[in-house]
Amino acid sequence: QVKNSQYFVELENQYGCHNYHPLPVVIAKGKGIYVWDQEGNKYMDFLAAYSAVNQGHCHEKIYQELIKQASQLTLTSRAFYNNKLGEAEKYITQLFKYDKVLFMNSGVEAGESAIKFARRWAYNIKKVPENQARVLFANGNFWGRTIAACGSSDDPERYQRFGPFGGLNFDLVDYNNINAIETKFKENPNYAAIFFEAIQGENGVIIPDSNYLKQVRSLCDKYNVLMIVDEIQTGLGRTGKMLAVEHENVRPDMVLLGKALSGGFYPISAVLADDQIMLQIKPGEHGSTYGGNPLAASLCIKALEVLKEEKMIENAHNLGKVMEKRLNELKKFNNVTQIRNRGLMGAIQFQDGKGDVAWNFCLQLAKQGLLCKPTHKTIMRLTPPLIINEAELNSAFDIIENVLKSI
Ligand code: PLP
Repeated sequence: QVKNSQYFVELENQYGCHNYHPLPVVIAKGKGIYVWDQEGNKYMDFLAAYSAVNQGHCHEKIYQELIKQASQLTLTSRAFYNNKLGEAEKYITQLFKYDKVLFMNSGVEAGESAIKFARRWAYNIKKVPENQARVLFANGNFWGRTIAACGSSDDPERYQRFGPFGGLNFDLVDYNNINAIETKFKENPNYAAIFFEAIQGENGVIIPDSNYLKQVRSLCDKYNVLMIVDEIQTGLGRTGKMLAVEHENVRPDMVLLGKALSGGFYPISAVLADDQIMLQIKPGEHGSTYGGNPLAASLCIKALEVLKEEKMIENAHNLGKVMEKRLNELKKFNNVTQIRNRGLMGAIQFQDGKGDVAWNFCLQLAKQGLLCKPTHKTIMRLTPPLIINEAELNSAFDIIENVLKSI
């Protein structure tokens, strides 16, 4: 007997940790921008696994690479060299123009690693007194769920009753407020780094004012503080450029990548930096059993090649304009209070009201064959795979308009 969706929902409810609240859709298959549920219903995927599936579900070339490499060698640990890691390191550092890379697995590990690099750099190079290094974050930040990530968050859902977080020496300022950053840097000479997203993704696609990144760059230069930009969600084509910092021609001291670095096949994250930062960590001082494994390394090269060869970044740029136009047209609906997008990273902000406004909207969309996920009570994010075409994008917006008309 074929098992239905309800069966799988119940399994997860009974045996899994209740740390997520999924939309009630059980996905059984994915290809390109589409997924199918257990009953065979087809949906357009406008979440793309939080931008991890920029290349589309089950991309054929990445899949072939997975099969090829998995039949040869998957994991050696870094106790030995392997014949894939160096090639991936060369490929990614040449592509992004940094001296070196550190591969990790999840995005949050890239963030943790960056903080370790920054602190080391602060003690060794900036000569900050031991254990005094500070890191500045922005309100509304999201970079994962470790204790350090929760300790940097201003969202009670993320930090409340997970403490204590004492001794992290993390501070918060408002996002998109340059003066607030300068005040902090002036107040205390011990800042190692500022760590922030080029566009705040989980906070609801919050796009800073133009020149913000440039201004942060010059403050970092002025006060000798490292600029760490988390491009785990904004990077790899999502905003119509390979990196979102390219919109302002800014070069951070460290760039964090993750999510689409494997096109959804494997957890791979990376920290990019120059020698002066990366060589502060010596053998034995940092590591990960799976980090930089040969399977991840070969998938990373392929996932990046596919992004470039298949012109997904250009597509995100071009269709970003279509998304912008269609989003603008939604302003005619009373319950839409704001729209935002850069490239194919978009959001609709609804008027606050009774119940879970954005959640209920997403439920309606799912019934019409469009999968989206809310961020916060009133914001819905739109991040389709970057291989979407204009007709598909328009048909998704037709669904959104139809649901908006009906409520
Ligand atoms: N950084 C950003 C900007 C993210 O959006 C996320 C996840 O959503 C992370 C870091 C954490 O990545 P992971 O869930 O792979 O640890």
